[in-house]
Amino acid sequence: MPDSAASSSPAAATAIIGAGIGGIATAVRLAVAGHRVVVFEAQESFGGKMHQLELPGGYRFDGGPSLFTLPHLVDDLFRLAGRDPRDYFRYQRLDPITEYFFADGTRLTAWADEEKFAREIEAKLGTPAADVLAFLARSGRAYEATAGTFLQKSLHKAGTYLSPEVLKALAALPQLGLTSTMHQRHQAAFSDPRLVQLFDRFATYNGSDPYQAPATLSMIPHLEHGIGAFYPEGGIYAIAQSLVRLAQELGVEFRYCEPVREILVSAGSRVTGLRTDQGSYQFDQVVSNMDVVPTYRHLLAAQPAPERTLAQPRSSSALIFYWGIGRRFPELGVHNIFFSEDYKREFEAIFREQTISADPTVYVNITSGHTPTDAPAGHENWFVMINVPHDQGQDWPALVVQTRAAVLRRLSQALGTDLAPLIRAEHVWDPPGIAARTSSFGGALYGSSSNNTLAAFLRHPNFSGRLKGLYFCGGSVHPGGGIPLCLLSAQIVSDLLKD
Ligand SMILES: Cc1cc2nc3c(=O)[nH]c(=O)nc-3n(C[C@H](O)[C@H](O)[C@H](O)COP(=O)(O)OP(=O)(O)OC[C@H]3O[C@@H](n4cnc5c(N)ncnc54)[C@H](O)[C@@H]3O)c2cc1C
Repeated sequence: MPDSAASSSPAAATAIIGAGIGGIATAVRLAVAGHRVVVFEAQESFGGKMHQLELPGGYRFDGGPSLFTLPHLVDDLFRLAGRDPRDYFRYQRLDPITEYFFADGTRLTAWADEEKFAREIEAKLGTPAADVLAFLARSGRAYEATAGTFLQKSLHKAGTYLSPEVLKALAALPQLGLTSTMHQRHQAAFSDPRLVQLFDRFATYNGSDPYQAPATLSMIPHLEHGIGAFYPEGGIYAIAQSLVRLAQELGVEFRYCEPVREILVSAGSRVTGLRTDQGSYQFDQVVSNMDVVPTYRHLLAAQPAPERTLAQPRSSSALIFYWGIGRRFPELGVHNIFFSEDYKREFEAIFREQTISADPTVYVNITSGHTPTDAPAGHENWFVMINVPHDQGQDWPALVVQTRAAVLRRLSQALGTDLAPLIRAEHVWDPPGIAARTSSFGGALYGSSSNNTLAAFLRHPNFSGRLKGLYFCGGSVHPGGGIPLCLLSAQIVSDLLKD
């Protein structure tokens, strides 16, 4: 196919670099809009961070994301293509959502129903249910006031700022907490430090630090508690699988094991195609779903890069232990959080010292309760994750050994059993491994962090201001990382291309 892509077809020919969830969703949208779409993927299969893995003994894991919110954004893609989403992809609302284990031994269940959750908090922590409901309602109002504007439109087109809806959202910003941090907001709302810790954790949903991130991010709990957390039938990987099936039905071509080496640019600063080891291809547009930093550094090495944007601090990364566990733990659900004693110390370690604290909060995701084929009968598949800094050359082998011991100590103590002998299979994914598999700069999970007030405006736009025909989707650009925002980036790119 080299050198023939665009010329043989009257439809606009668009290349997408990367088959991450943002790239797949963009491919679907552009195919529906009549483009001829080719997706170039460096790996042997699709999904990027949203991949799956199997370990000996019959354990299957979702490799990356585990929490799924705003499922209608996936449904929208099937409907856009005139399909019934339920013919491709099914999911159920999770209830309970999360099992919390605090350092002092307190256990708390986050129920899907807000009132039931608030009553549980009153019973276990003593904070009046009315205070919890008032906080969640405020989180919902903040989300409703801003999400439509800040997440669903390009912030980098003058036209965005002309609509009355956007002006209203901008006017609402000061009351949403641009001058205080998330942690300060939660401290003002609750006197129980455990509840503050519980809501502070939502900063990690986009790889940020609650002690630095603006209070605006206190709207994140609304996604889970107001709208809901969901579990896709078959696990998270089913999202990518079902969308790739749709994309293929729409005629999208996926070229695996074909990393893009260069984005080709004409003398007039127009993108003309791309180059891989197999040759050069002409395209009318190129959409990069690859992290924006390596896109500039490696694929556009001869072009000036937006240095200020690329220098934004990175989000956190993750250290994940995938464990096949030879026993069932009925007290655990799909999402389980084992909090550390000193949350502040944990974030100082990640964001100031670029290391992992000795007592990190541990997240355990278990899908075999909902998808029994994910583990042999009587066993479980544990995805055990710690928030860690992005890779800056730390001694990861040493950090992995030290953190594995800390995690085993914490989990064994909380569950009252020695966990180590129950591990039947194991795989570890660390920040350098995440970077190597997905090209994400430093293995950061969500591109840049949201640790300052202007972070939303400092993310790279969904288009290049300098190179015509170059667009960007995925977690490293606007509106941000995480499955829902990557899906929204695809919507913004396809809207920009329509314009
Ligand atoms: C451990 C972990 C836990 C997470 N937890 C959650 C969660 O619970 N909920 C949530 O919503 N989100 C979560 N996330 C974040 C979420 O997974 C990501 O934001 C999202 O999947 C990123 O999608 P993307 O479109 O940016 O593409 P990516 O997944 O980053 O994929 C980019 C693709 O581009 C390909 N590529 C790179 N360079 C090239 C090249 N030169 N040529 C061709 N192809 C190339 C890569 O191989 C890759 O397939 C998590 C991520 C991780 C890693």
